[in-house]
Amino acid sequence: MSLMIQVVTLFPEMCEGALTTSMLLRARRRGLLAVRVIPLRPFGVGPHRQTDDYPYGGGPGMLLRADVVVPAVEWAMAHYGGPARVIVTSPQGRRFTQTVAEELSREQHLILVAGHYEGIDERAKMLLNAEEMSIGDYVLTGGELPALVMIDAVARLIPGVLGAKEGAVQDSFSRPGGGLEGPQFTRPRVYRGLEVPPVLLSGNHQVVAAFHEKLAEDWTRERRPDIAGKATDERGN
Ligand code: SAM
Repeated sequence: MSLMIQVVTLFPEMCEGALTTSMLLRARRRGLLAVRVIPLRPFGVGPHRQTDDYPYGGGPGMLLRADVVVPAVEWAMAHYGGPARVIVTSPQGRRFTQTVAEELSREQHLILVAGHYEGIDERAKMLLNAEEMSIGDYVLTGGELPALVMIDAVARLIPGVLGAKEGAVQDSFSRPGGGLEGPQFTRPRVYRGLEVPPVLLSGNHQVVAAFHEKLAEDWTRERRPDIAGKATDERGN
């Protein structure tokens, strides 16, 4: 099964580098992920292809127009992949977490709409029946980076994207219990007087696994007491 993600954006060039590098490139080359970037500008209105306008009632900044965003999303659906789950990036949306990434990785077609300026005319979200999704409690200039964050987190969960040795199962938030992964070490064995914990060199897989498990639990308790010992559905995901 492969996943199609389309990103509707006023700034397509912002997406280029991330989508053509490392894991995302690999996922696309393997045919597990298809990504299309749909520029908003051609859907702009009037001779100047205007995409934004002043908010009714006043207020700072500009809003992306509904009569630009809606046709762009409809065009994307009509030309590639058909009906889609439409997600508008927004600091006011549902929090994007590992659980949500897992949920989205099981979809077949997603359209991510990147807002800009002060956001998007509310009617566009209503007409598109779109969900709003936030990558965290801070405000960015535009939705391109949030869209890329979501694509990256989702892509690595598609079966076959990560190799067997890179599997996501031990990663923070994906591991059984949903806690953090503990510390890890690579060569050299001793660096500036700091030695790798000898147990990791023991060759005893059970002992090594127990060591990793213990440190993962300790770290989760120390660093993220809010999620320690809680199942994912208890965390408000
Ligand atoms: N006026 C909006 C508000 O107060 O909620 C903020 C608009 S923000 C400057 C412009 C665009 O960036 C948003 O429409 C959204 O697409 C994107 N954006 C900013 N922060 C985001 C976040 N934390 N998560 C997802 N998208 C975000």
